Amino acid sequence: RHRVKVATLSERMELSAAEFKHLAVMRLNVGDRVDVFDGSGEAGEAELIHLDTFSAALRLLSRQDSAAEYPQPVTLAIALLKGDKLSDVVRAGTELGVSTFQLLRTRYADVPDIGDSKLTRLRRVAEEAAKQSQRAVVPGVLAPLPLSALSAAGQCFYAHPGSPGKLLEQVTWTSALTLISGPEGGFAPEDLAQLSRLGATPITLGPRILRAETAPLALLGALAASGV
Ligand code: SAM
Repeated sequence: RHRVKVATLSERMELSAAEFKHLAVMRLNVGDRVDVFDGSGEAGEAELIHLDTFSAALRLLSRQDSAAEYPQPVTLAIALLKGDKLSDVVRAGTELGVSTFQLLRTRYADVPDIGDSKLTRLRRVAEEAAKQSQRAVVPGVLAPLPLSALSAAGQCFYAHPGSPGKLLEQVTWTSALTLISGPEGGFAPEDLAQLSRLGATPITLGPRILRAETAPLALLGALAASGV
């Protein structure tokens, strides 16, 4: 069934210009039912009650608890990557349940920074992927921070080849979770010192070296495959 993003769930919901365009493309008619979500965790079922050439409105029929979220928010802190690799990570990471993507600047970064237009594009990718995977939460994509400015409440892990720790043996789901994944060149000694000051635990992804865009998905895939 069609999924429509609304500003807030309420009895009557007027659609934004972008959603109205989307609805027109779907060729819905008054009386049709759609799933609605607000992007921050509220979801439900609604009926199209008004549609003309310029506007549309929905009536909320019922609210749903979102079963699609992890028991605690999961932040993926990911080093900046070349080309369009971050789009792939954001798309798949959204399907795999990330609540927030925090972009990171690290010493051996593949690219020094990203522009506003690319950030906007990544946010659009997250919104589309959230709809596809029937999540009520659209993950935020936060502008890059230097690793030294990262704060991580709750449990925090970083992937680093050769580490003794294993993610699933340590995740307790009793507090928020932050997973950190490095750039193609890996973490520099200064980054590793920073991660240790942050209290992050190093973990392995096995004896093979994964590409920088594969490693975050292996971390998230482990969580997804644990069935939580
Ligand atoms: N030569 C680099 C190094 O030794 O760190 C390789 C970096 S790897 C291409 C890119 C990132 O993916 C790493 O910084 C790490 O976060 C993650 N990664 C890749 N393979 C991994 C593995 N087997 N175990 C843990 N992390 C891994």
